Amino acid sequence: MSYSDNVRGIYQQQLNGIKEAGLFKQERYIHSPQTADIEVEFPTGASLKKVINMCANNYLGLSSHPEVIKAAHEGLDNRGYGMSSVRFICGTQDIHLQLEAQVTEFLGTEDTILFPSCMDANAGVFEAILTKDDVMIADRLVHASIIDGMRLCSAMQDSFKHSNMKHLEEKLQLHSDKRVKIVITDGVFSMDGDTAKLDEIAALCEKYDAMIFVDDSHASGFIGKTGRGTHEKCGVVGKIDVITTTFGKALGGASGGCVSGRRELVEMCRQKARPYLFSNTIAPVVVSGVVKVLEILSQSTERRDKLEQNTEYWRKGLTEAGFILKAGDTPIVPVMLFNAKLSQDISKDLYQEGVYAIGFFFPVVPQGQARIRTQISAGHEKHHLDKALDAFVKVGKKHDILGKTKQEIIEMSGA
Ligand SMILES: *Cc1c(COP(=O)(O)O)cnc(C)c1O
Repeated sequence: MSYSDNVRGIYQQQLNGIKEAGLFKQERYIHSPQTADIEVEFPTGASLKKVINMCANNYLGLSSHPEVIKAAHEGLDNRGYGMSSVRFICGTQDIHLQLEAQVTEFLGTEDTILFPSCMDANAGVFEAILTKDDVMIADRLVHASIIDGMRLCSAMQDSFKHSNMKHLEEKLQLHSDKRVKIVITDGVFSMDGDTAKLDEIAALCEKYDAMIFVDDSHASGFIGKTGRGTHEKCGVVGKIDVITTTFGKALGGASGGCVSGRRELVEMCRQKARPYLFSNTIAPVVVSGVVKVLEILSQSTERRDKLEQNTEYWRKGLTEAGFILKAGDTPIVPVMLFNAKLSQDISKDLYQEGVYAIGFFFPVVPQGQARIRTQISAGHEKHHLDKALDAFVKVGKKHDILGKTKQEIIEMSGA
């Protein structure tokens, strides 16, 4: 079949449907490195505007850190641009092993295997370690990449209500006959910024003889006293059987991910995980950058401490101004607006005021839970946060939502 007018029409119709539903994703073009101040072209063709970035996953401000860039340059000079191979043929350099050892040390696990991305880690890990005799019990709000990884695995799938320990316990009892049981959760959930109850989950897993899997992509590098992640915050370092995480967020923000955990499970991934076996090795430039990131983070907690202080300052400022926030203590700070259109209007107005923050609404978040998700970075200085707060207050006043209750905002915005 050729790409006939008829076939083209099928896709044009679907794309129009997405637009009419208001779900068309329009990208904004950034003409500068990823830092607190960025230069953005929006709408397409408009002249560049300098804005404060309040929605990057650049939690530690390391995405364009001079030392990381220097290390990446050295990696490029010393180990070349690309490896043109997967790991097990001729794609493993000494620096890949160095990085794997460093991640193991940083996370307090037994061993680590690198993947091209955390999406790939999640896509490969379950199939590599589980069979049809096993069961996967996942929190209902886990990341899309985990859901995809579970789909690729023949083990039975089940779920428990978000962070509901009673429900999890019922499911563990229900599946007591399975060969291997694994409980699956995100460490920090990306839309609400809440933290998994890993201490309670670990206790249940011990009681019912189950393994624990944590995706710590929104935590590695900054959650916990020394930034090791959610397991550190919850006091269960060494008790998590599988941790997956990304290098594409706090840990330099380029790309790459890993599976870190029990020695045998990591080795099973090396032998069997398809994204590891059939996709290219991480480029030396990126490996060298992440090696430097972990070196910086192992020497001092200065950056995660600053992030914590920035987050407190930001949450306090928005709360005192009269915004409704999702409660929590992570640098993911959702400003609740409930109404989808209101979230889009406020995002546009903020942009005019020099603040880049994106509105999320259904189906990314539940119906009636539209919000602007702000994300704080150690790369933000106080003047950034103050300027962004001023912009939020100005726009909040314009829409008359400051100090209003959820019900009042919903009624006003005609939801
Ligand atoms: C971002 C994210 C991923 C994907 O990471 P990549 O390395 O970009 O593929 C996976 N899991 C969670 C929880 C994430 O937030």
